[in-house]
Amino acid sequence: MRKLPKKEPIFLPDEWNIIEDGFHPENNFMLETIFTVANGYLGLRGNLDEDFPDKKQSFKATYINGFYEEFDITYPEGGYGFAKRGEAMVNVADVKTFEIMIEGEKFNLFSGKIYKHIRKLDMKSGTVVREILWESERGRKIYISFERLACFKRQHLGAINVRIKPLNFSGRIKIVSKIDGNSSNLLETEDVRVGSGIEKFPFETIKACHAELSGFLMQKTKKSRLSYGCMVEHVLYFDDFQYKSFTDKEKNLVIFEIEFDAEKDMEYNLTKYFSYFTQRDIEEDLIEERCAAEILEAKKIGFKNLLKEQREFLETFWENADVVVKGDPKIQQAIRFSLFSLLQSTGRNGISNIAAKGLTGEGYGGHYFWDSEIYIMPFFIYTYPEIARMLLIHRYNLLNAARQRAKELHHSGALYPWRTIAGKECSTYFPAGTAQYHINADIVYAIKKYFEVTDDLEFIKSYGAEIVFEVARFYSELGHFSEAKNGKFCIFCVTGPDEYTALVDNNAYTNYMVKMTLEFATNLYTLLKEKDSDAFEKLCRKIELSRDEVLLWKNIADNMYLPYNPELKIIPQDDSFIYKKRLDLSKIPESQFPLLLNWHYLDIYRYQVCKQPDVLLLIYLLRENFTFEDLKNNYEYYEPITTHDSSLSPAIFSILAAELGYLDKAYEYFVYTVRMDLDDLNDNTKDGIHAACMGGAWQALLFGFGGMRTNKGILSFAPKLPEKLEYLSFKVRYKGRVLKVETTKSITSYTLLEGENIQLSHYGSSFELKRGQTKEFILAN
Ligand code: BGC
Repeated sequence: MRKLPKKEPIFLPDEWNIIEDGFHPENNFMLETIFTVANGYLGLRGNLDEDFPDKKQSFKATYINGFYEEFDITYPEGGYGFAKRGEAMVNVADVKTFEIMIEGEKFNLFSGKIYKHIRKLDMKSGTVVREILWESERGRKIYISFERLACFKRQHLGAINVRIKPLNFSGRIKIVSKIDGNSSNLLETEDVRVGSGIEKFPFETIKACHAELSGFLMQKTKKSRLSYGCMVEHVLYFDDFQYKSFTDKEKNLVIFEIEFDAEKDMEYNLTKYFSYFTQRDIEEDLIEERCAAEILEAKKIGFKNLLKEQREFLETFWENADVVVKGDPKIQQAIRFSLFSLLQSTGRNGISNIAAKGLTGEGYGGHYFWDSEIYIMPFFIYTYPEIARMLLIHRYNLLNAARQRAKELHHSGALYPWRTIAGKECSTYFPAGTAQYHINADIVYAIKKYFEVTDDLEFIKSYGAEIVFEVARFYSELGHFSEAKNGKFCIFCVTGPDEYTALVDNNAYTNYMVKMTLEFATNLYTLLKEKDSDAFEKLCRKIELSRDEVLLWKNIADNMYLPYNPELKIIPQDDSFIYKKRLDLSKIPESQFPLLLNWHYLDIYRYQVCKQPDVLLLIYLLRENFTFEDLKNNYEYYEPITTHDSSLSPAIFSILAAELGYLDKAYEYFVYTVRMDLDDLNDNTKDGIHAACMGGAWQALLFGFGGMRTNKGILSFAPKLPEKLEYLSFKVRYKGRVLKVETTKSITSYTLLEGENIQLSHYGSSFELKRGQTKEFILAN
């Protein structure tokens, strides 16, 4: 068994804020990730406002969800169907860096004296505020504060407010502010999980201009040929200032120099508003106009009211989605940080999704993976189904590309890419990329869950069914009825979720999830025909779907080969897994983890060793198909050989350990999951947050310690808190109701806040709740 890493917390245990007290340049890289402000569309990495001199410890970035550059992928030894053109989220123009000169001395925390430096991410206000008391080398003492936000209600808008107050002098202050269009992505690093593949500078500047204190820059990516525009405007809340503005199109810069004579003890305040639009949102010709309209509106509203709007948005968010835990403020802080980060990361416009690192860093090229459907989407399905719907609509919008990819691989139906932004398969390592055919079923699983929880038939008619049918069609061609396996349907040469075993036959996760897909497709076929025969006919015509094809799906589902080993009483991960040598993880030095950075894949593939749960994830997702004994036997078998080298791993172990009654262990896995980024437990938070891990933390609280399940249309609970947690409460939306669950170690209560009567189950005993009613249950020790 591998010992999970632990570290001393960097941040104070504050339940609503992440606070950096003092100046900590040694943590700069990871702090840039943590102090990101984003709104699902625009992501401003938490770089210092005045620039960070050591470029090896900093990466300045601004991202737009779904805005990408393409690049050619070259393989000296290529092959048919290999991904040839990649997509990566591109780093766009920077507007958040200021240069402040005080009587000719540059404000810079690496010189002079720092009396106070506090940086705070406030999860109620949705801002990052920095407050600094600093004295220059020549003895000028000054107070400076910066407040940043990316507006949740206006996704194309952000603002930075700067306040400056000379404390022991009067003198000349100059502020240099820019639109700096010289951003580029990290080309490559030694870590395979980082590095974009985009050539150094991906843009052509099409337009750059200024007028008084406002400016505009428009750039086009060289390969994907997509334009974006960025407009800024400065509003100064004092008179008697002078300014100069310049545009240097060649250098991709629009520069503003604002100067004033500052008086001791007077405060000088300015706001920089900025707006970004891309050609993926609107026509290229409209970009400048729309940026201008956004800024005009922002100026009318004013910075204070933008802050108010932001607070109101977040009040509603927390009202719906907050999870309260008592027992350890570090846990409360971390779960809120997780949910807040998910909100910041999630595209809501149907053309974007949730990148593995959100909008915070360069890891995984800004790609969308199955992380969205299996790890993150449950949070949205149960708290913000309208966001879950948009995420699924994004998958629908990629359906044509998925059809194309299936065709390229000589199949009918649709094959979703393992990692992508706009639909292309971007994985350059097919054994852990395209071979993860389960991505298709993961998307179907999310559609099925979404439908189960919302009853949104409109979604199924307009989007969901088409995806499900095309995926079912694809799967029916992926395997065959094998005589050597008693005529059962077998699927060869695939990779399951555990990337430490690749290109195997009959991966249990894949076979079960394909069976689930085909059954769901068959049921939807009947349901749609019954509920809306016009929509049904139209869809069948559109995709040329016949009853015979659906009968074949049913036949495959009924005859799927489902691996089981009666001697070991476990589900073998695949046909060959149990014959390999089991790796004793306790004998491997900690410095060797993650193995993927220190071992050749061939070495890894040779052993029984898992990066992340595969069979156990299957048992969790399709829990109703397995007994408690199955869960226990498989847990005991797979836990000792799992490295948790993927941050997607520990949450699932936490949930299953909780069900098995191993509460201390469940808590340990949970803490590792929920503190992953705040404590930088995997030493790579600098590359961005671990979004799936954050979704996993939410699942661990609700499905693990809350014991929530939704099998066969009934919401059921079996809460059990670990020793270190005293109280847990959360809300869920289910079929139009809003339910609040609160539990301590001795009492659980259920309150129906909205919606019609609902049938629930508490530890197997079913009961009904009316709107406004609360029912309490005493928990046995
Ligand atoms: C995991 C995948 C995951 C990806 C992005 C990999 O390390 O093995 O399951 O999708 O990271 O988070």
